[in-house]
Amino acid sequence: MREKIEVLITEEQLDKRISEIANQINKDFESKDIILVCVLKGGVMFMTDIAKKLKQTVEFEFIDVSSYYGGTESSGKLTINKDLETCIEGKHVILLEDIVDTGRTLSYLIEYLKEKNPASLKLCTLLDKPSRRVVDVNADYIGFTIPDAFIVGYGLDYAQKYRNLPYIGILHLDNE
Ligand code: 5GP
Repeated sequence: MREKIEVLITEEQLDKRISEIANQINKDFESKDIILVCVLKGGVMFMTDIAKKLKQTVEFEFIDVSSYYGGTESSGKLTINKDLETCIEGKHVILLEDIVDTGRTLSYLIEYLKEKNPASLKLCTLLDKPSRRVVDVNADYIGFTIPDAFIVGYGLDYAQKYRNLPYIGILHLDNE
């Protein structure tokens, strides 16, 4: 099987859109301190790039949930592999996702984080694939709405590969 990557969103487009989202967050939160909760591992590049453009005091937290197991389809079963290390009660939290696909991960994490009583909880995803939605969930900040394709790059992987690509691409698996 040959793996081919077709560029969907360039580095320049990512930078421009991430600046726009950061400006919006800066307006919405003004002088409020924020905790950014990054969903590992796919959200890492997005978190570091957006955080540099935020003007508030920003704390970093990480959470790891399994839903994909090395392939291109979600198992539908979710487990927390790594939990938050700080108390978010009474804090303003922005959950950062790489991509919302079926919506299962995001809706699970919303319920999970809400139970911890944050002052506010906003959802920010770099990519949104609304055509694949199984659970009705909407993000407050969306980078790009994309078609139904398997995406790699800029944090997103295929069998742990391609996370370091500076752009977003569609993965094509061709029989040679
Ligand atoms: P959901 O629970 O919304 O179906 O999926 C969310 C998670 O599945 C994302 O955080 C991401 O890790 C993974 N995922 C969904 N779609 C894609 C995709 O097109 N490419 C990659 N690499 N991961 C995806």
